[in-house]
Amino acid sequence: PHIQNKIAAGEVVERPSSVVKELVENSIDADATEIEVFIVESGMKEIRIVDNGDGIQREDVPLVFERHATSKIAVDYDLFELRSLGFRGEALASIGAVAKVTLETMNMESSPVRMQFEGGKTVSNTPGKERKGTDIKISDLFYNTPARYKYVRSLRTEAGKIIDIIQRMALNYPDIRFRLTIDHKERLRTKGNGRLKEVISDIYGLHIARKAVAVHAETPDFKIDGYIVRPEETRSNRNYINLAVNRRHIKNFKLSQSIINGYHTLQPKDKYPIVVMNITMDPKLVDVNVHPSKIEVRFSKEQDLNRLVEDTVRTYLREEML
Ligand code: ADP
Ligand code: MG
Repeated sequence: PHIQNKIAAGEVVERPSSVVKELVENSIDADATEIEVFIVESGMKEIRIVDNGDGIQREDVPLVFERHATSKIAVDYDLFELRSLGFRGEALASIGAVAKVTLETMNMESSPVRMQFEGGKTVSNTPGKERKGTDIKISDLFYNTPARYKYVRSLRTEAGKIIDIIQRMALNYPDIRFRLTIDHKERLRTKGNGRLKEVISDIYGLHIARKAVAVHAETPDFKIDGYIVRPEETRSNRNYINLAVNRRHIKNFKLSQSIINGYHTLQPKDKYPIVVMNITMDPKLVDVNVHPSKIEVRFSKEQDLNRLVEDTVRTYLREEML
């Protein structure tokens, strides 16, 4: 059974940043209000996530490393519902197959447990600390898959990718307190007080947050919420467009282009805005791409949405510039 997990690892956990993404999504799904992320050596040595979420029941712990073990809904269109980010039950099985895992967890209905796994097999099982939530440590990622290990080792962009992921999570969940530490250096800390503007300040700095203009638009199909910043500096590029659907980070070229088009009707073409935008919609209007990372999406009412986004950006910019 472990052979299948090792093959699947290539898809879901191709690199340390994808491991971080999956684990943080699990913490969010467990209703954590505090999530701490510790990274050592770009995540190749260690990735540790400590949350204060619901935890896992003692007897369920060995099961979560089995393929397609999920306590969540397994229907594709539910993917963009607010409640659950994971749904395939693939992440932990894939991670467990290619790393050493220490999992300490306590669920309010059972006693705390601390278990260690290697290559998906239990190597120790002892009582854990009395503390609600989950503390999961991934060590020596890809230690048993030398080709992958070599491939990722040679990438120098991993820490940047991890920062990027946590920043986007923090922007999508202002009511969760995030802390990210890389090689013992704190790289991000948010307050978790629900104020998006303060998260923008935590990430981009107070001078940017001060210039952030709130955007809001609503049609029967879509609700748009967020902030637009027109930065003075020319350093900005289109990487500063943070798009989410039902609080899940997405990539969609045409939608980003609609934002930029709206922006460029009133701004020089070589400048780009900082945008944080969440679009709330019926999950049935989102076509989930087959890729397991679930980031690229298509929309059923694509033209309506693109037009709405472009108009919203233009209108807010016009008002802000008055
Ligand atoms: P999925 O998220 O798709 O269900 P995963 O492999 O990511 O699959 O996780 C398997 C199961 O392990 C989850 O369904 C959940 O029940 C449990 N789990 C994983 N991480 C946590 C966590 N941090 N807190 C509580 N439960 C968790
Ligand atoms: Mg998951």
